[in-house]
Amino acid sequence: MYFCNMRIDILTVLPKLLESPFSISIMQRAQDKGHVTIQIHNIRDYSTNKHKNVDDYQYGGGAGMVMSIEPIATIIEKLKSERTYDEIIYMSPDGEVLEQGMANKMSLLKNVIILCGHYKGVDNRIREHYITKEISIGSYVLSGGELAAAVLVDSIVRLLPGVLNDETSALTDCFQDDLLAPPVYTRPSEFNGWKVPEVLLSGNDELIEKWREDQALLRTQERRPDLLKKGGEN
Ligand code: SAH
Repeated sequence: MYFCNMRIDILTVLPKLLESPFSISIMQRAQDKGHVTIQIHNIRDYSTNKHKNVDDYQYGGGAGMVMSIEPIATIIEKLKSERTYDEIIYMSPDGEVLEQGMANKMSLLKNVIILCGHYKGVDNRIREHYITKEISIGSYVLSGGELAAAVLVDSIVRLLPGVLNDETSALTDCFQDDLLAPPVYTRPSEFNGWKVPEVLLSGNDELIEKWREDQALLRTQERRPDLLKKGGEN
């Protein structure tokens, strides 16, 4: 099996927020099996300030603090001196919106830094001089980049070869092929008189495959017709 070890360095002022998403279930197993190394760096550890401040008032006035350049620049320079990074990402509501296609592409990368913002965000010079990609997880504002980073990392890591038990299962998820996934059922075949569609019990692989394709198309037409249009454009 093709084996890759991806390395993800996450820069944050709230490392605790990232502990549980990466220490449970698939994300933990992916690290234990060596498919990915996730390093969390506390930006505060790199503050040279007496009070370990990582933010300051914004130039021009106005409410909200801005994350200072220096501690972030120090960590990024240190990491860059240790290895080459494919992308230095800033989680940001004004970035490119995360989609399955982007997760697919990013799962091929080797070394990635993810910067989580807080308060009003980071000093713009960090974005101008270090950041190579800005990613939003949707058109709403979170209080910090940590949950967004956890979403991004989860969407990438589950695609790494060997992470999911049944490797084909990521391929039949929603959005691969620009289609939503068909409905799924498990035992019992009848509950409260509610029956599992007959075809799934037929044992006829061809019919089942056809039914799943039809259902996927139907769901997509009903719920996300925009995806079908997108597929047609490609
Ligand atoms: N004032 C900023 C928002 C700052 S929110 C603005 O309006 O653009 C604080 C931090 O949370 C951001 O720096 C970013 O890292 C993170 N964040 C908030 N919403 C996000 C989203 N939709 N996607 C990704 N990161 C987000």
